[in-house]
Amino acid sequence: MDFDLPREVRLVRRAVREFADATVAPLVEQMEQRDEFPATLARSLGDLGVLGLVTPAEYGGSNLGHLARTVAVEEVSRVSAAVGISLQVHHMATAALGEFGSDAQKAKYLPALCRGDSLGTCAITEPTGGSDLLGMTSTARAVGDGYVLNGRKCFITNCHLSEAVVTVAKTGEGPKGISAFIVEKGTPGFAAGRHEHKLGLRGADTGELVFRDCHVPRENLLGNEGDGMTIALKTIGEGGRPGMAATSLGILQACYDESVRFAKERTLYGRPIAQLQAIQWGVAEIFAELQASRWLCYHASWLKDSGRDCGVESTLAKMYVSEAAVNAAKKAVEIHGACGAMMEYAVQRLFRDAMVCVSAGGTTEIGKLVVARAALA
Ligand SMILES: Cc1cc2nc3c(=O)[nH]c(=O)nc-3n(C[C@H](O)[C@H](O)[C@H](O)COP(=O)(O)OP(=O)(O)OC[C@H]3O[C@@H](n4cnc5c(N)ncnc54)[C@H](O)[C@@H]3O)c2cc1C
Repeated sequence: MDFDLPREVRLVRRAVREFADATVAPLVEQMEQRDEFPATLARSLGDLGVLGLVTPAEYGGSNLGHLARTVAVEEVSRVSAAVGISLQVHHMATAALGEFGSDAQKAKYLPALCRGDSLGTCAITEPTGGSDLLGMTSTARAVGDGYVLNGRKCFITNCHLSEAVVTVAKTGEGPKGISAFIVEKGTPGFAAGRHEHKLGLRGADTGELVFRDCHVPRENLLGNEGDGMTIALKTIGEGGRPGMAATSLGILQACYDESVRFAKERTLYGRPIAQLQAIQWGVAEIFAELQASRWLCYHASWLKDSGRDCGVESTLAKMYVSEAAVNAAKKAVEIHGACGAMMEYAVQRLFRDAMVCVSAGGTTEIGKLVVARAALA
């Protein structure tokens, strides 16, 4: 059993870490204040090569795989979880297109997505259909040469940044009555709606997408009619959940780094608080969560890259790591005393970001249902 990351993944880690420190870190405060995704960042991520990590070379990617993707999202999220979620949702879209798209669809959309002409998104959640996917009410009515979409998607990451959106709507009844589509920006009847302002992950673009008698040509059907539920479940289960686990992992790492630094710098009773046993325990607890979380994330990604079932392990990683990040962030704020409540210290942001990651990609309760179903089968 080899716990070393493959060389190419270690190179990805190094490159993304340098990029995050040099290019993303200076943008964090601006993202917090303006709550906007920086205009140049998609192209910079494209130049770095991380937008095509799960896309074959013939369509402009590097295809380094899901472990490399996890490490990239982790490293970006260590500096900005808002950029982390934007990157991981982009990968959901490229993975869905890569796995279910026709050759023509892949050739049309993937190279631009890998370059960072825009960021991709997967728009599944609706006001009536979050955890309850079948509760969605968006419809896609077949007409001569395509479909007419009506409905509304909410809480969608990258929704104003995407040139082409992967989405799902009802073409019939029940799980087989859902189909997936690629909808291009500028299609009449399709618009990005309100921009949501969130507790955390500020700067990640989140909002709604509206379809009003939006005519989508038949060639933009992703997979076959009726494949939408399979595409949605696979994209969320094997892309969204591990992606959010990696985002939370980056937050956990930052909680650890900030806590260690502060514990060594802050002196009380004439010595650094790192020498107080209560502080040592707090740091040890965060470190234990960090290590456990890291291996859950890497194992799920390794399973995916090995072509094995990874749905349960990915869900387990999402469920565990997003909660662990909240616990670690709370502990990190406590270690900082009053400074933890001050806006100039990163831990307040980490706490807010960690909270938002709990529901994104599927809630803890849904995670427990999936894991329990497998455990009790
Ligand atoms: C920052 C952010 C980014 C997001 N980005 C995207 C995106 O890009 N694309 C996209 O499609 N979606 C996105 N989402 C939506 C996200 O996937 C949903 O929020 C999530 O699936 C939960 O759905 P909901 O918010 O409707 O909660 P609800 O389903 O309304 O759940 C409310 C509560 O009920 C609980 N609950 C629900 N069902 C059960 C059950 N059976 N048993 C026990 N408890 C239950 C939940 O755990 C939760 O506590 C994003 C969300 C956030 C916060």
